[in-house]
Amino acid sequence: MEKIIENFIGCDCGFEDSDIVLFGAPFDSTTSFRPGTRFASKDIRSNSYGLETYSPYQNADLSEISVFDGGDLELCIGDQHKALKTIEEYTDEIVENGKIPFMIGGEHLVTLAPVKSVLKKYPDLHIIHFDAHTDLREEYLDEPYSHATVLRRIWDITGDGRIHQFGIRSGDKPEFEWAKSHTDIHLFNFDGLESAIESIGEKPVYFTIDLDVLDPSVFPGTGTPEAGGVTFTQLLSAIFKAAKLNIVGCDTV
Ligand code: MN
Ligand code: MN
Repeated sequence: MEKIIENFIGCDCGFEDSDIVLFGAPFDSTTSFRPGTRFASKDIRSNSYGLETYSPYQNADLSEISVFDGGDLELCIGDQHKALKTIEEYTDEIVENGKIPFMIGGEHLVTLAPVKSVLKKYPDLHIIHFDAHTDLREEYLDEPYSHATVLRRIWDITGDGRIHQFGIRSGDKPEFEWAKSHTDIHLFNFDGLESAIESIGEKPVYFTIDLDVLDPSVFPGTGTPEAGGVTFTQLLSAIFKAAKLNIVGCDTV
């Protein structure tokens, strides 16, 4: 007899045979405006049964890709350092086994953990970041580890020129000033994505998508909705372009 446990539709491969490991990081301790992202991975998984595994956009079927759905991690909601440690240990195991981690957040802070894991294996890692927000604050509410600082914490361990940001339309003035000399920042849409892809070439990439890059008229259910975002088809076409890169880890939050 086999256990009957819900996984994301079409992702019923075993761990050993998988190329990609999907898992949820249900954590939203530092969310500043509207909490609830901790429920996202469960909801995304159960709502996946309203989709087909076949994508006419890509003429590809998810059931032909070897994805293991590991379920949701048990995270310490009140302590982001403990939560990040749990995620990092889990993604270390995925990366050490030669597989690609695919995390569903959770607030954006969770991205720091899998980035640390893949960076150990790929020191020349680049980051593709789709978001409404810069997420580049040094501190937010006196806290250096927050959804609003996560890309700054990633910069701490990657350095200049490795972070490529798109769709950005919110942040404070010092963040935008700082970004000019430290990250490859592109405002409002995906202009400049092709040249970034060209310059990255074959280098390993971690791809993180904060779904608030979408316009709130398309995707209102996010912690900090921000008007002026991209459409669903714009996001889809940007994902298809970026997906041609050498992706070694990814998430959506
Ligand atoms: Mn974000
Ligand atoms: Mn955001």
